[in-house]
Amino acid sequence: MTKADVFRLLLVGADCAGHLFDHSEISMWPPGALDECRRINLVRPAPTGLTAPCPLCDDHHIEAVTVVDERDSDENTLSRFFIWCPESLRVEVTAAMCQGWEVNAEGLAGVLAGALGLPSARPVVPGRLWHLGRMPWRKSTREVVLAMRLADDDGGAVTRHIGTGGRAVVFVPHRVPSPSSWPGRVPAVISLHAAASFTDEVVNLDAEAVLEAIAEADRLAEAAGGVSLDARGKGLVRNQVKSELKSHLGDDALVAAYKQHGSYDKAAKALSEQMGTKISRDKVWRAVNRAGGIDAVLREDDSGSVGRVVASQPRDRAKKNQQYRK
Ligand SMILES: [Zn+2]
Repeated sequence: MTKADVFRLLLVGADCAGHLFDHSEISMWPPGALDECRRINLVRPAPTGLTAPCPLCDDHHIEAVTVVDERDSDENTLSRFFIWCPESLRVEVTAAMCQGWEVNAEGLAGVLAGALGLPSARPVVPGRLWHLGRMPWRKSTREVVLAMRLADDDGGAVTRHIGTGGRAVVFVPHRVPSPSSWPGRVPAVISLHAAASFTDEVVNLDAEAVLEAIAEADRLAEAAGGVSLDARGKGLVRNQVKSELKSHLGDDALVAAYKQHGSYDKAAKALSEQMGTKISRDKVWRAVNRAGGIDAVLREDDSGSVGRVVASQPRDRAKKNQQYRK
């Protein structure tokens, strides 16, 4: 096993909730690897779960540790560690054998920020999502994040912080979540397991792999429809379309709906459904009054043209949406 292998093991561990590296695993690592990983904050001692491998059996079976506190001759407390072995019964183990190690997620976020030349990692969802800053991309910039365990059941709690515009550059330790797990456009997701390497206490990124992943995500977003707008841009367009549609609902359309349905309530209900927004009974009533009241509007012969204004609304909306997507 090489230090590069150790780095890849850590990345796999980072995507598994509560993953622990115990003494039996650490003892397979090349000499100095644990110290190196600790120095650059990739691993830290795990706070819980004392287990140790049996030092006497060939299979090094893992057992829970019992701690026994004893007093030495100077009245100092001395902790001794024991496991239960089916072959040798009670077996004493060393403190180092009981120590578990876990991936230091904050440390990994900091290391990645460093590899990208970004100033720092700011936690967004503790232990799951970090904002690393913005990286230049073509004539603009892209938000860069590190997200962990996106493929877990609660991955949605993390993805919804990343935005729906598909413009973010999302680094993950190992597992790339399915495209359907994103609430909006699928952003560029880059697995560090595939795109990063570890030598001499330095994590390096394969720049070509990173840039290719972003370009590919953009290409897929464009193929799925329209330019890659960010979330705010999409909201803006939606509001513009909505307010334009509202302004089209003039008195003519309101009166025509009244004539068609024969009551303020029915007209308001039909218009609300048609427009996808609440049209009040009062709005219809006011329009009919402005047109001279019920008798006046019912006397009018030429209801065909105003009727068409209402009937054409959904088609107009579809057309507008299409124009905005271009
Ligand atoms: Zn044993």
